[in-house]
Amino acid sequence: MTQRRNGMFKKNTSDQLTKVHPTIADILSRLKDLSDPIDGSNLLDAKRFSGITINNGLAQICLTIDPSQAPSYFALEQTIKERVCAIPGIPKALVVLTAHQALETPSTEHQALSRGQFYLPNIKHIIAIGSGKGGVGKSTVSVNLAIALQQMGLKVGLLDADIYGPSIPTMLGLKGQPELDFENKMIPPEAYGLKTMSMGYLMNDETPVIWRGPMIQSALQKFLSAVAWGDLDVLVIDLPPGTGDVQLTLIQKVPLKGAIIVSTPQDVALLDAKKALLMFERVDVPILGMIENMSFFECPSCHTQTPIFHQGSVKDAASKLKAEYLGAIPIDIQIRISSDTGIPFATQTKNKALYFDTIARRLREKLHLT
Ligand code: ADP
Repeated sequence: MTQRRNGMFKKNTSDQLTKVHPTIADILSRLKDLSDPIDGSNLLDAKRFSGITINNGLAQICLTIDPSQAPSYFALEQTIKERVCAIPGIPKALVVLTAHQALETPSTEHQALSRGQFYLPNIKHIIAIGSGKGGVGKSTVSVNLAIALQQMGLKVGLLDADIYGPSIPTMLGLKGQPELDFENKMIPPEAYGLKTMSMGYLMNDETPVIWRGPMIQSALQKFLSAVAWGDLDVLVIDLPPGTGDVQLTLIQKVPLKGAIIVSTPQDVALLDAKKALLMFERVDVPILGMIENMSFFECPSCHTQTPIFHQGSVKDAASKLKAEYLGAIPIDIQIRISSDTGIPFATQTKNKALYFDTIARRLREKLHLT
């Protein structure tokens, strides 16, 4: 019998190709003799490996460490990667160093860890922007709100987790794949002072939708642990639209400060927006507020405002649902053009950008950022 190293197939005696199915036990058996570089304890005995998954040939292994000692673990990280990639059927491995769960002082981060969330000590606030439906302007609001926050002097990152339509690179005029730094972390491409990361950098239009659900788990892990975000005041996450398992898992994995829900004022959109709000509440994510997008149309000549849809209904819904109403954005051809051309609206015409500015100020107050 022959086996192809790192391949997905091995040959059996009758020389036919059969699929190799590596298991978590295979991984553990390769790692069983590894010890901690600081105290020499056996890592397996000390239950330091967690969250091991194998997906389409990609293995992910989390190793819990004391984050202040991270550099002492870089060589071990490489050893783990090499050993796991030597297993037939696992061509790629991602090793994530996560914070030790048994740190003494309890804090939000440590509580987050005990819930299986990522530990992101350099990011002050992570907020999610969600919507019940696609096409209501969630990504447009995410980009422009992030820019408005950045224009107030805050350090802002924007994570495009919308696997179904990752549009943030286009909206910011960014292309290509992120480069890696000396620690092999992805350097977030920057535009207009925002640090960004997007599913769009990692997949192309041909990536089948059926892969996108499983991909988001591993991609999110990478986005939060293998991206050199640096210090951020706010990380804005543009969620995939809807209220399914993908969204639910995603918001449970991130220590969110809160969520903002974007809706247009039509009844159909609002119904779904309410579902989104309930989804966040179900997993104890505070609602920071609701935004009404495409609220009205203002005639460029006479400045008459026309409520094309059902202006004010998001405000009414917010009050019924006991959520704060953060503000309205008009439907404006310049908003659409600016998204398509990669020059965000909030960087342009001062007066109009004020819509996003007003919402960003409310948000900044809510987050107690000065
Ligand atoms: P979602 O993220 O909810 O799917 P997008 O932000 O991608 O929605 O917006 C969908 C389309 O609507 C884009 O072409 C965008 O430019 C346009 N759009 C969004 N908000 C507005 C607005 N306020 N005025 C005009 N066009 C808008």
